[in-house]
Amino acid sequence: MEFTFERTDTPALERYEIALLLDRKKMKEHILIGTRSEIRRRLNGDKDAELFHDEERPLGTLLTEFEQDKEKAWNQYGTMPLWNALHTNRFEQPALEKTAREFLEARYKFGTPLEKYAAIRIWNGYCRARLPADRPKAADDYMADISGLKTLFLYTEKREVLMKTKSRMIESKAFVKEDFGLDLWYPTGNPDFECAMGYHNLFPLVLYYQRRVAEWQLFFQKCSVCGKYFLAPSQRYSICSEVCRKMQAKKSKQEFDDRARSNQYDMIYKNVCQRWRNRINKAKRIGLAEDRMEEMNKAFLQFKQSALEQKKKVGSRKITLMEFQDWMDAQDSILNGFLE
Ligand SMILES: [Zn+2]
Repeated sequence: MEFTFERTDTPALERYEIALLLDRKKMKEHILIGTRSEIRRRLNGDKDAELFHDEERPLGTLLTEFEQDKEKAWNQYGTMPLWNALHTNRFEQPALEKTAREFLEARYKFGTPLEKYAAIRIWNGYCRARLPADRPKAADDYMADISGLKTLFLYTEKREVLMKTKSRMIESKAFVKEDFGLDLWYPTGNPDFECAMGYHNLFPLVLYYQRRVAEWQLFFQKCSVCGKYFLAPSQRYSICSEVCRKMQAKKSKQEFDDRARSNQYDMIYKNVCQRWRNRINKAKRIGLAEDRMEEMNKAFLQFKQSALEQKKKVGSRKITLMEFQDWMDAQDSILNGFLE
């Protein structure tokens, strides 16, 4: 089911909630958005249950994907235009609604599940508040309904803070006057589930999540391949997923191949050098003329220099090891020329 950001005189009056189920065994988080009755239907296996969101992801994703709203965009483009719309005359309302609609719709479509939920609730809260004729009360009702939602995006510090499961975010000054309650829900049915439910404020969900991660003694680690954060059973883990594991294996094989190539090159090179030295010694033994000896030593030096250039070509894969071997063999004829 898709939520539509339209002004309507018949907004849904049921409570849309966000449900969070954490599975330590499967290392998964499951997030559903909708009314409780529909969430229960889905959890009991009904595919036709009407939900705005139903997603299972690696455990910890909700915390690692979090982005702080530094520019306070939620306030400026999401909640305030609608608050103003409830105060102003009906000619100015469409423009204000448009600003909020564009912002919230984008968060709904492209944002995280928490953002998606906040977008739905804010728009729905606005439509519901518009219904009574009492305008000042409408604005108050709206604010009371949605005020807690933006708290998380506005006041939470950096994502890294969410991942330090022992830090106490709740000590932030922004929360001095606010208590947090969390609704734990155990829907009837089989199997039984524990769901942490968010409605007024999303902060308790995050706190609940953090405490669980700490309780389960899991650690946030940064993947050495893709750089993403992920939850691991110990700090020894450095790779986030099967995909990254394969990437790492490919890279290791490449490095191994490169090393093997380099070793093979060195072997060929050493053999040929030895051949040169043997011939030079032999030439000395049979008493080759001095000027010929000098030429031979010079040719050896030249060979070593050219061999180095050939090595670079092997390294950058401009020539194959086979071609390099051929080149080396060809040097033999120069060598043999001295002793004929
Ligand atoms: Zn990775």
